[in-house]
Amino acid sequence: MREDRSVSPLRNPDAIRIRELEVYAWHGVFPEETKLGQKFYVNAALSVSTCAAGKADDLSLSVDYGRVCQEIHRFLTDHTYQLLEAAAEHLACHLLLTFAGIHALELEIRKPAAPIPLPVGSVSVCITRGWRRAVISCGSNLGEKEAYLREAMDKIAHDMKCRLVRSADFIVTAPYGGVEQDDFVNGAFLLETLYDPQELLTFLNRLEAEAGRERKIHWGPRTLDLDIIFYEDSVIRTDRLTIPHPDMQNREFVLRPLMQIVPEWVHPVYGKTVAGIWESMTGSHGI
Ligand code: ATP
Ligand code: CA
Ligand code: CA
Repeated sequence: MREDRSVSPLRNPDAIRIRELEVYAWHGVFPEETKLGQKFYVNAALSVSTCAAGKADDLSLSVDYGRVCQEIHRFLTDHTYQLLEAAAEHLACHLLLTFAGIHALELEIRKPAAPIPLPVGSVSVCITRGWRRAVISCGSNLGEKEAYLREAMDKIAHDMKCRLVRSADFIVTAPYGGVEQDDFVNGAFLLETLYDPQELLTFLNRLEAEAGRERKIHWGPRTLDLDIIFYEDSVIRTDRLTIPHPDMQNREFVLRPLMQIVPEWVHPVYGKTVAGIWESMTGSHGI
């Protein structure tokens, strides 16, 4: 369990800061920039839990900022990007994947000699990226139901941009939504992910497709259904994606697994915990 690993810089205010790391590299839109190169300066605030390392005075419990600097330097000299945005995006992802102790980071890449025919001091791009928590509900009611759920869980656990933090026991439930069909097996996962919500949905849709999911009848039988219930405390309403899942509060087969893995998670629209929503639905405190 990694219960205490916060992923947002706000929840974990400890930081290691790197200031003005100079790197000579070849990023830019103009040919002379990629040919001649120029200086870049990197600032980074790494969200790291420093407490254990601080108490024990032990580097192995922290993130080695010397290695981080080397890695930033190596990455920016090994790759060439047209945009500072791209250099920052890829570098942030690389650092988060390379150093397990970095929960999130703020990264600024500055170009002091940006090719602008005006007296400008410098131009920089500054981004914040990190491991984000998401709760996924899963279900299957066709074929080897449990095997489909286990395979999905395995693929999530092995995906580079996901970490499986916790999973609920699978439960057998009656079908929902009035379509005559076989019983379901349901479960839920708590993840940390580097995917943004849209990318996470694309990834989950791919896993459904790989499980041979066909969309014939709404709420009809399916080999694998993966729904995003929560993504941090985000509230999203687009044509393709609604988060929190709009019907979660009415579904025992979603709430029961959630009660096992995230009872204290606060629904960002209702302002109620999962346990509170469960209590409103069932009238009982526990599962
Ligand atoms: P329900 O969403 O009511 O459980 P369903 O899971 O059977 O129904 P699907 O056919 O799997 O519905 O999905 C239909 C569409 O719902 C997807 O293509 C996706 O774009 C959209 N969708 C919107 N919000 C979410 C979400 N939070 N998680 C997963 N899919 C979502
Ligand atoms: Ca669903
Ligand atoms: Ca779905």
